[in-house]
Amino acid sequence: MFLRTSLISLSVSLGASVAFAEVPRVVTDMAPIQSLVAQVMGELGEPSALMPQGTSPHGYSLRPSEARALQSADVVFWTGPQIEPWLEEMIEKVAPDAVSVPLALAEGTLILETREGAHFEGHDHGEDDHDDHDDNHRDEGHDDHDDHDDHDDHDEHDDHEDDHAHDEAFDGHVWLDPMNGHAWLGVIAAELSALDPENAETYAQNATAAQAELEARVEAIAEQLTPISGLKFIVFHDAYQYFENRFGLTAEGALSLSDATSPSPARLREIQETIADYDVTCVFAEPQFNAGIVETVLDGTEANTTVIDPLGVGLEAGPGFYGALIDDMAKAFLSCQSE
Ligand SMILES: [Zn+2]
Repeated sequence: MFLRTSLISLSVSLGASVAFAEVPRVVTDMAPIQSLVAQVMGELGEPSALMPQGTSPHGYSLRPSEARALQSADVVFWTGPQIEPWLEEMIEKVAPDAVSVPLALAEGTLILETREGAHFEGHDHGEDDHDDHDDNHRDEGHDDHDDHDDHDDHDEHDDHEDDHAHDEAFDGHVWLDPMNGHAWLGVIAAELSALDPENAETYAQNATAAQAELEARVEAIAEQLTPISGLKFIVFHDAYQYFENRFGLTAEGALSLSDATSPSPARLREIQETIADYDVTCVFAEPQFNAGIVETVLDGTEANTTVIDPLGVGLEAGPGFYGALIDDMAKAFLSCQSE
């Protein structure tokens, strides 16, 4: 009896210290992903984010201190190579032994093709595209990113392989579909559990709780946005189709392409025509980009403008961030409608 008791307490204390020692060092790319991972880790640890909050991931390059933070990672959760080709290269170069998890390529992620043109074609709801997106789900995991083998030298010029390996032209703004966030909570828990089996149960419980909260949020937002499904709007850069698709909204066009490059004068003229021809009532500006372009486009029209922020620049980072970001997106749509 005594023996048994002391064995149990010995294993409990060992278990606790081993579990603490083995909580992986987690690095993420930016606040939305950091928030999802923070929810799964709970009290066990705090993931870091490489980019300063609110920074556009398009064409970012890491500062030396950020590269050092990456170097210490056991696991890197990041959005994906479509929007962050530079990060894929940095992980290979700086943290080759870390587990790299590009969430856009994870099982269960809904992906949508990149839209073309200043006025989007074929969005007249004729093809009931809200229920049949299973075809686009990723189901092969992220194994197709293991095929980079020649990164063992330190030649700076090897960084410029911008269009390598990713001819899958899908829209990289995958975090703006909250149901992708929902799927990723499960992916994150599974990856952390593989690295840290001692805490598997905690990761699973935290993920399940976070998923339930997110489901309730999605349901509430769907209800709020249903009355404005006919809103005619233009977005600043084509980042929102995941959110639109989830909640039955459809942009008439974007000032800038999904890669956030500056629009040409011809494209701006096309947008102005779209506003007139399709009775657009709302043009979204973004804190990350030049508001003057939106002013130019609005000149001489009756349309409203509201700021929408796909990166949550003013929100507090941490577990609550992701839900707040999705809520703020919904609020932006509602406020552009009612003004
Ligand atoms: Zn973007």
